[in-house]
Amino acid sequence: MTVQIRPVELKQSVRDFKMLIDGTWTAGAEGRVIERTAPSHGVVVSRYQAATKVDAERAIAAARKAFDEGPWPNMTAGERSNILLKAADLIAARLDEIAYLDAIEAGKPISQCKGEIGGAVDIWRYAASLARTLYGESYNNLGEGTMGVVLREPIGVVSIITPWNFPFLIVAQKLPFALAAGCTAVVKPSELTSGSTLVLGEILMEAGVPEGVVNIIVGTGPDVGSVMTSHPDVDMVSFTGSTGVGKLTMASAAQHLKKVSLELGGKNPQIVFPDANLDDFIDAAVFGAYFNAGECCNAGSRLILHTDIASDVIARIAELSKKVKVGDPLDPTTQVGAIITPQHLEKISGYVSGASSGGATVAFGGGTLDLGMGQYMTPTILSGVTRDMAVAREEVFGPVLSVLTFETTAEAIQIANSTDYGLSAGVWSQNFDTCMTIGRKVRAGTIWMNTFMDGTPELPFGGFRQSGLGRELGKHAVEDYTEMKTLNMHIGRRTGWWMPR
Ligand code: NAD
Repeated sequence: MTVQIRPVELKQSVRDFKMLIDGTWTAGAEGRVIERTAPSHGVVVSRYQAATKVDAERAIAAARKAFDEGPWPNMTAGERSNILLKAADLIAARLDEIAYLDAIEAGKPISQCKGEIGGAVDIWRYAASLARTLYGESYNNLGEGTMGVVLREPIGVVSIITPWNFPFLIVAQKLPFALAAGCTAVVKPSELTSGSTLVLGEILMEAGVPEGVVNIIVGTGPDVGSVMTSHPDVDMVSFTGSTGVGKLTMASAAQHLKKVSLELGGKNPQIVFPDANLDDFIDAAVFGAYFNAGECCNAGSRLILHTDIASDVIARIAELSKKVKVGDPLDPTTQVGAIITPQHLEKISGYVSGASSGGATVAFGGGTLDLGMGQYMTPTILSGVTRDMAVAREEVFGPVLSVLTFETTAEAIQIANSTDYGLSAGVWSQNFDTCMTIGRKVRAGTIWMNTFMDGTPELPFGGFRQSGLGRELGKHAVEDYTEMKTLNMHIGRRTGWWMPR
C-alpha cells in the first residue's frame, strides 16, 4: 500500500469566472454556466460562463480586427517583448493563486503546481527574448540584377486549444510565442480546468496587451472548439490534446487549409540495460509513471527491461511505490493527487482489469482508493505485459506502469517503436554506444539519456508519428507562428521577355 493523505474539507468558496472577448469580461450569449467539481474533494469549486458558437465567432472577429487593424502586429518587437516580460512578472506575483486553481480543478499536487507555474514564468520570459531576435533572411548573391529578402510576418489569428492535464503550463508553450510573433489569439482551455487560463487573461490585460489581442472562451469541443478550428478567419490552430481529437482538428482545419500544430498523446518507453545506474533509474521510473497521476503525455508508462535485471527492478520499484504519498492535492507533501473525473478513473481501472485478465500480473497496487471524498487511484505496476496488449499500446493516462522485457538491443528498439506514438523515450546505460544507438533508432521527439522528463524552454518538444506535428519551445518556437514572405527585387532595367534589352 502507498501512503494515503485524506483530503481536508475545503474552506474556499466557489469562484465565478466570465470569458474575455475584445478586452471585456462578459457572460455567454445563452447565459449557460459550466460547473467544475474538484476531483479531489467532490464539490463544485469553479463556475465558468459557457461560450456558444456566437461567442466563439465574436472572439474570432475581435482577434481578426486586432490583427488587421493593429496596433499589436505593428508594434516593435521590443514593445511586445516588454509586455510579455511584464506578464511574466505578474504571473510570478500571482503564483500561489494560480497554483491553487490548477491544484483544485485538475487534482494535481500543490507543490507540483507551484513548480509548473514557476516554469511557465520562465517560458514567458524566454518567449519575450525570442520576440527581439526574430529575423528573416537576405540574399545578396543572386547576381548583379537581383536581391532577395525573406520576411517573417506574423501568421495572423491563432486558435489555441489546450487540455486539462497541465492547464497553465501548456498555454505557456503556445500563447507567448504567438504574441511574440505579433499574432492575435482565441484561447480555449479545457472545460474542466479553465480557471488559471482566465486569470491569465486578467494578467495580460494588466500587462498592457491591447483589447482583442487575446480572447479567452470556455466551452466544449463540439460547442466552440469546432468553430475555432473551422472558421475561415482563423489562420492557424495550435492544439494540444488527445490524438483522436487532434485528427478531428486537422480535418476541420483542412477545410480552409489552415496551418496546424499538434501536440498529442504518447506511450513512452524507458529502456533499461543491465549496466544502468539502477538507483537513479528506480527513482526516475517511479517519477515517470506516477507524476501528475500518470495523466501526462510524457508519462514513462512502458518499462522495457533487460531480462537479466527485470525481477530485481520490478521488486525495487514496487518497494519505492509503497512510499509514494497519494491523496489531497492541497497537502504540500502529496506526490500523487486525484484522477480528473470518475469516468476517467473507470477507464484506467478497465485497462488494469483488461491487462490482468489478458495474462499480465498486478505486481503492485491495481485498485482505486477511497479517501472519503473525490476519486483516487493507487500507483500500479503490471508485469508480464506483452506488446500486443492494450496497456502496452494505448495511453492509459493513469498511474499505471506496464513492464515488458527484452534480450537484445535490436529487440528493445523494436518494442519501443511498436506503438503508433513517438513522443518521448528514455534509455538507461553507462555505455555511450548503447545510449547513442537507442538515441538514433528510437522514433520519438525527445530521448532522455540517464534521466527522464527533464525540460527547459531552450529545447524543442513535440512528437513523431501520431504524437503530433511540429515542435514547441526552442529557438524556432516563434517562427512557427509566422509566414515567410519573399521580396524579389530587381536592380536596373528588367530583362525583356520578347527581346533582350
Ligand atoms: P482532449 O483531446 O479530449 O481535449 C483537448 C482539448 O480539445 C480540450 O480543450 C477540449 O475541449 C478540446 N476539444 C475536444 N473536442 C474538440 C473538437 N472536436 N474540436 C476542437 N476542440 C476539441 O484531451 P484531454 O483529455 O483534455 O487531454 C489529454 C490528452 O492530451 C492526452 O492524450 C495527452 O497525451 C494529450 N497531451 C499532449 C501533450 C503534448 O504536449 N504532446 C501535452 C498534454 C496533453
